[in-house]
Amino acid sequence: MRAGLQGKLILAFSVLLLVALGTGSWFYVSRSRDTLSDILGEQARQISQTLAMAAVSPYRSGDSGELRKVAKTLLRSRNIVLVVFCDQKRSPLALACRDPDLTIQKWQTSPLFQSNTQQLMQVHARHTEPLGDFLQITVPVVEVVHEPGHDATTRILGFLTVGLSQNAEQAQLRRVTMTGMGVAMLILVLCLPLASGLIHRIFLPIRQLVAASNRIASGDFSVQVATDRPDEIGTLARSFNEMVGRINEHQQALKIANESLAEANRGLETKVQQRTRELESTNQRLSGEIAEKEDFLRAVSHDLNAPLRNIGGMATMLLMKCRDKFDEDVVHRLERINKNVEVETNLIAELLELSRIKTRRQKMEWVDIDGLVCELGEVFEEDLKQHKIDLIIDATLPGLVCERNRLRQVFQNLIDNAIKYMGRQPTREIHIGCTSAESHLEFYVRDTGIGIHPDDTTKVFYVFRRGKNSAEMNVAGKGVGLASVKSIIETYDGRIWVESDLGKGSTFRFTIHRRFTPEAAAALQEPANDAEAA
Ligand code: ADP
Repeated sequence: MRAGLQGKLILAFSVLLLVALGTGSWFYVSRSRDTLSDILGEQARQISQTLAMAAVSPYRSGDSGELRKVAKTLLRSRNIVLVVFCDQKRSPLALACRDPDLTIQKWQTSPLFQSNTQQLMQVHARHTEPLGDFLQITVPVVEVVHEPGHDATTRILGFLTVGLSQNAEQAQLRRVTMTGMGVAMLILVLCLPLASGLIHRIFLPIRQLVAASNRIASGDFSVQVATDRPDEIGTLARSFNEMVGRINEHQQALKIANESLAEANRGLETKVQQRTRELESTNQRLSGEIAEKEDFLRAVSHDLNAPLRNIGGMATMLLMKCRDKFDEDVVHRLERINKNVEVETNLIAELLELSRIKTRRQKMEWVDIDGLVCELGEVFEEDLKQHKIDLIIDATLPGLVCERNRLRQVFQNLIDNAIKYMGRQPTREIHIGCTSAESHLEFYVRDTGIGIHPDDTTKVFYVFRRGKNSAEMNVAGKGVGLASVKSIIETYDGRIWVESDLGKGSTFRFTIHRRFTPEAAAALQEPANDAEAA
């Protein structure tokens, strides 16, 4: 379970209080113990010295019985646990001990025996199982000798060892420690609810802030908290109220903006619907117009073709039947009529086809463009030979998913033009190739022919527009070929343009969108197949 901030503070307070009380108690107890040790040590020193002085006369008289009596008497007092009188060589003369096992014979082998005179007058803390904790001190029994005519001198008569028990004092100390700990626990127990109440009170405004935040989170921006406190919480409350006010203002502004956006959206939707309806009707009208145009073109071509065929037929018949009766000029004119009829019939067919490029799509199939261009090379073989022109495919051309005849028409027109407009150039080459870009493939047909005048480079793609070069070089043509090519390329989301250097040659470039490559077409086909299978 996770404790809240308030719980954590109470916990931290309790821990701190416990540590402070524990440290205080420990410090107090250890100081008390040290002081007690010092007092007991001093007491041991004083008792031993008083006893040493009292023992001078039995020592002097060599009365060890008296010494034993004194020792036994001393053992009856509360603190004294050991009294040993020794002679100058540290041999025991009299011994009294609360441990019955420690006899005068065992004294010199007992661990309590101190042979070292340097340890005289020093208090040593001892512990034995039967005696418990006690302080041991050994003092010399000294006699002061006054000789006439000399200064007073001292003489060591023997040594006195006294053991003073610490048990009573230590029990007292333990009682004091326990009392101290009890008081500390009592303080802790009394302080805890007090601290908890205090922290609860300190946290009251913060809890109010949390409640207010929750109300804001649930969308109630009218909430305010009390700000009449001079401390940091008062400042926080004021900032909080200010923040709520700002959020409220923004919320209102947002609401207004949303409403106007919704209004604008509704207007936009109406406009889109209206425009869609307009577009639909325009579309319908256009489709109707296109259909009408096609009908018109069919009718016109039929109406034009029929009399033209009639004229051509009559001229041919006249030539067949009456060629001998007509003089040469009439025959020549009739032949020209026939030729013109043929040209016009072809022109009408080409125009009809041009009008259908965008409206009547043909079957889309995988076409090997490289093979298609090679086929055209064979078709133009005679022309190329006759004009001494080399047709070079720079690199293998990629396949496309397209209308075979239309793409064939594109390359055919461009190669045909390149031959037609080669002129008398010394270098006579036609290059065909393709480069690849991210979104499209770019094909080119480059020739080393007469080139196109800069004014004509855009015009030549419009129907019936021929370049100045055609008149200059007297090249026959109708000005329909490039318009058809442009129309076809546009159905493949591409564009066509020409880069030309007059007198040096022209490069016709056109692009085909990547989605007409076999890979892209297959990728498009796959999801459709999956959907069908599903
Ligand atoms: P046509 O060739 O029948 O005139 P096109 O539409 O094919 O009609 O060509 C339009 C014009 O573009 C041509 O009259 C000619 O001026 C120019 N043109 C086309 N191809 C070339 C070329 N390879 N080199 C020079 N000029 C060309």
